Amino acid sequence: MNILVINCGSSSLKYQLINSDTEAVLAKGLCERIGAEGSVLNHTPAGGDKVVIESPMPNHTQAIQLVIDALTNDAHGVVKSLDEIDAVGHRIVHGGEKFASSVIINEEVLAAIEECNDLAPLHNPANLIGINACKEIMPNVPMVAVFDTAFHQTMPEKAYLYGLPYKYYENYKLRRYGFHGTSHDFVSARAAEILGKKREDCKIIVCHLGNGASISAVDHGKCVDTSMGLTPLEGLIMGTRSGDMDPAIIEFLANKEGLNITEITKILNKESGVYGLSGGISSDFRDLSAAMDEGNALAKATLETYAYRVAKYIGSYVAAMNGVDIIAFTAGIGENDVRVRSMIGQYFNYLGCSINPEKNDVHGKETIISNEGDKVTVMVVPTNEELAIARETVRLV
Ligand code: ADP
Repeated sequence: MNILVINCGSSSLKYQLINSDTEAVLAKGLCERIGAEGSVLNHTPAGGDKVVIESPMPNHTQAIQLVIDALTNDAHGVVKSLDEIDAVGHRIVHGGEKFASSVIINEEVLAAIEECNDLAPLHNPANLIGINACKEIMPNVPMVAVFDTAFHQTMPEKAYLYGLPYKYYENYKLRRYGFHGTSHDFVSARAAEILGKKREDCKIIVCHLGNGASISAVDHGKCVDTSMGLTPLEGLIMGTRSGDMDPAIIEFLANKEGLNITEITKILNKESGVYGLSGGISSDFRDLSAAMDEGNALAKATLETYAYRVAKYIGSYVAAMNGVDIIAFTAGIGENDVRVRSMIGQYFNYLGCSINPEKNDVHGKETIISNEGDKVTVMVVPTNEELAIARETVRLV
């Protein structure tokens, strides 16, 4: 089967066409500036060069039409017609408590996703627009919704409740949900598989360290805790997100800087994290590492603070699971940043393991980076959210 995987944002749309039999990516691309001037589609067929298609995209329906045109184009297309697209898998950010697994999209599901809009006002409406655009252009192709939150729905009450008046949970479903679920699921399953073990027999901690970052504790196949909360702002220090902090900081900053809550929330999401902490050097870890090499003390302090937070979360999940067998690093930083992995590994002595400097010199490749005979296996396991969505789509259709 050929599965079109769609990740739709408010002004962008990422896609991959995946052959589910071979799991090969036939083509991938990105529409940018949808609904604005200068919209552009970057389309790359497998084994071919990137094609840049500049064409107006007043809305997402037009963007999807351009994607279909690119996929079926005589010169740079990879299929003959729309008939060769068997199903569409949509990445949906928030499934609330309604969705603990992927589902085939129908009217009822659309209404239920819409009910979660309050929980993810920036993401879910855009995801829905993507679904509706596909429905318009390919009404007879089955579609599946794969939720970022679903894998974490196995978290017990003690992990998902906040220490807030219970009525807010009752009234608004205000609780911890977690995100990157597709990645945590994929990486924990793959980590066990690489070691020839069943995930159901292992305690696994997955560190998804990308621009957005989260950690999860996967105990015998089930997620029992994760670091993101009601929104992706909680938990680790990220590229531009603050992660955990004293909530009283909000009032303090409002008074000192004369800001309102919306302005402060924007600072916490877009101007904080390693970007803000480093005094604006960069949110990209390559730049921070280069600055540290040049002797920039704040870049060094930023990376140390980042690594310390990750190490503390790992420690708390070892406590939550009463042990750990596998620690897996994934996503942009987790897969590529040798230095940051090593800085986090400095805190692993109590676990009876350490990161081996030679084995750790690896980028984006499945590798065991701890020593033979260590009590805990530390690994790099590249994530592949698109492939995971394609597999889910095939499973359901
Ligand atoms: P997202 O999907 O959240 O946008 P990614 O998982 O793609 O994020 O991670 C992107 C981040 O990974 C970059 O901002 C950068 O900090 C980091 N990164 C990517 N490549 C490298 C590398 N070779 N060395 C260190 N960090 C890297």
